[in-house]
Amino acid sequence: MTPAPPDALLTPDTPLTEVAELDAKTRTMLTKAGFTRVADLLHHYPRRYEDRRHFRGFPLDETPEAVCLHGVVTDCGLRRMGYQKYVEAVVGDAAGHPLAGPIHCRWFNMPWLIKAFAVGQEVVMYGRVKGKRNGLILDHPDFEVIEPHDPRTSVHMGRVAPVYPLGDGLVQKPLREAIHRILERLDDESITPILPVLPGLAASPASGRVTHRAAALRAIHFPATLDKAAAARRWLALEEFFVLQLNVLIRRQQAGAQPGLIHGAPGRLLAQWRASLPFTLTAAQDRSIAEIHRDLAAPRPMNRLLQGDVGSGKTFVALAAALIAAESGYQTAIMAPTQILAEQHYLHFQRHLAPLGVRVGLRTAARKEAASLPLMDGGDRAQIMVGTHALLFDDTTFTNLGLVVIDEQHKFGVAQRARLAGRGLTPDVLVMTATPIPRTLALTLYGDLDVSVLDELPAGRGRITTAVRQGVDLTQVTAFLRQQLDKGRQAYVVYPLVEESDKLAVKAATIEHQAWKERLSGIEVGLLHGRLKPEAKDAVMADYRSGHTRVLVSTTVIEVGVDVPNANLMLVFNAERFGLAQLHQLRGRVGRAAHHSYCVLVCAEGATEAFSRLQVLERTRDGFEIAEADLQLRGPGELLGEKQSGVPGLRLGDLAADAPLVHEARVMAEAVLRDDPALSLARHQPLRALIATTAAGVGSAN
Ligand code: ADP
Ligand code: MG
Repeated sequence: MTPAPPDALLTPDTPLTEVAELDAKTRTMLTKAGFTRVADLLHHYPRRYEDRRHFRGFPLDETPEAVCLHGVVTDCGLRRMGYQKYVEAVVGDAAGHPLAGPIHCRWFNMPWLIKAFAVGQEVVMYGRVKGKRNGLILDHPDFEVIEPHDPRTSVHMGRVAPVYPLGDGLVQKPLREAIHRILERLDDESITPILPVLPGLAASPASGRVTHRAAALRAIHFPATLDKAAAARRWLALEEFFVLQLNVLIRRQQAGAQPGLIHGAPGRLLAQWRASLPFTLTAAQDRSIAEIHRDLAAPRPMNRLLQGDVGSGKTFVALAAALIAAESGYQTAIMAPTQILAEQHYLHFQRHLAPLGVRVGLRTAARKEAASLPLMDGGDRAQIMVGTHALLFDDTTFTNLGLVVIDEQHKFGVAQRARLAGRGLTPDVLVMTATPIPRTLALTLYGDLDVSVLDELPAGRGRITTAVRQGVDLTQVTAFLRQQLDKGRQAYVVYPLVEESDKLAVKAATIEHQAWKERLSGIEVGLLHGRLKPEAKDAVMADYRSGHTRVLVSTTVIEVGVDVPNANLMLVFNAERFGLAQLHQLRGRVGRAAHHSYCVLVCAEGATEAFSRLQVLERTRDGFEIAEADLQLRGPGELLGEKQSGVPGLRLGDLAADAPLVHEARVMAEAVLRDDPALSLARHQPLRALIATTAAGVGSAN
């Protein structure tokens, strides 16, 4: 390929092979790391910046945070400390501050680094300075050797310098130089804007001083000031959120445009069931049922998320929806994340619906044969089928599937939802979650769903007192437990893992079960964990539900949904291992009746950070507030029920910190689609292409 003439402007699509200024070595480095076009470099964003316009003098003492220092190497060599060898560079203050002593930079297990240093060299170092008896130390700092006479040094010094993520053989200085070169010859006109030009939105707070995409790209790499870097990041993050929102809204449009089933029943069964209840539904339950009823009756598919805090009574809402479907002549599939929960729903539905003559079946992986009712056969087929994933994965098809209810949705992926939906005629879908999702996350991940919220607990719920403790006196705890048991109550004792693991030093439920049995002699203590066979789990839960077992030692399998109103005490050990949202879920197992309930969260000694984090739970019982705190403290991964915290399509955007940007992006996306629902205008073609490339990633976000 012939390199572009040196004065030709670059576009994002220009292959790097055509960028004449890149020397052979740099080109090889970039190719190896997978960079092929100019755009690849433009989108390789810095992970931080160093302000190298003015260096602070060397510190006289330890620094609480990382600092960026400019110095001269006065001595270097391979040193030994006991059996360990390390490379040391002794660096003096380049500004020659009279009081500042030298700093000893050390790199362990990297002997080849010795070649990097020579006495007299200028270096920039970044790291946290520690104090030792013999002076100040920087262990494994980021460092760059500066060559003051090299003309390219102006790329690295005297400015706010970008520091890029490396890996794949990338080296900081040549990478920075390559990006700098590219920006020098980049044609700003070739950068297609992503954000719409909307009256009133142009001067949005997010954009700061940045006015278009090319300027943002320039400023994210080589900002004049740190503030400008921040403004550029906000602009580019806003773009990311905007594309996510367009995706979500288009998905929602498409779903709404499909023909759906009309559940036209007047609600006679529903009315009959309500009349049979010994209590009244909460206003929030009423409102949600009405919203669902409207969706079910409409000729387009329902895609609704029911968010309700633990204990807010989501099951009854699902039951009401299933009744409307049944009366309209359709089958309902109710899917629960665990077998325990499926069994519980089944029992609950049976109890409520058998008297109305509604046929309820159960189907889980463990109980395929035992499925109590056939799905397909004539008059006795199940009208409501409760199950786990098995409902998705076995080959039985429903004859007449009209409604799918997915409980505890965050454990199910979009793909599974689609697969299940594919089983019937675009059934109406209701997903329910007890992990309240902060609005930012909900907008991004479930923005294609309509939302009903149960923001009210049924009347007559007792208080829950929550206490976070670091280490406890077990005799005292046992005495308290006995006291509650004497009043006729039941208790849960929760441990994080099933088996003892030396590495994690986790107290295992199996061992603790034995210990509790001894401590509570004369009292039935059950054990529940994920490795039990399904029949054994059922038996354990049945014993506990009936009150025969008084104390249940368990792992987190009881986390979701389990409903035994008589239980009023929950002890959680190694609570530091859990996220706030998860603990809130666990705590939701108590406080389900009028008794005063207690939740004691025991942290391991020394888990000080966790100890203060968990105190949020002492302060509030509001699931949304807790989820928001969790999002801020631990990122979105925790709430999504997965360890992965990244959301595809977000490289700069941060769901925890950028809530205002998410909302702004939503407004923008709505405005664009209002004008041009199919993105068919000529000016929207680039956006359309962009969405096509990101849609797959966004769909699998949860
Ligand atoms: P979740 O929303 O956590 O799934 P459930 O549906 O399991 O909550 O309901 C929790 C408990 O509250 C159950 O014992 C249920 O029978 C009871 N319940 C639900 N709605 C009401 C109501 N309106 N009045 C009284 N009790 C209710
Ligand atoms: Mg539930």
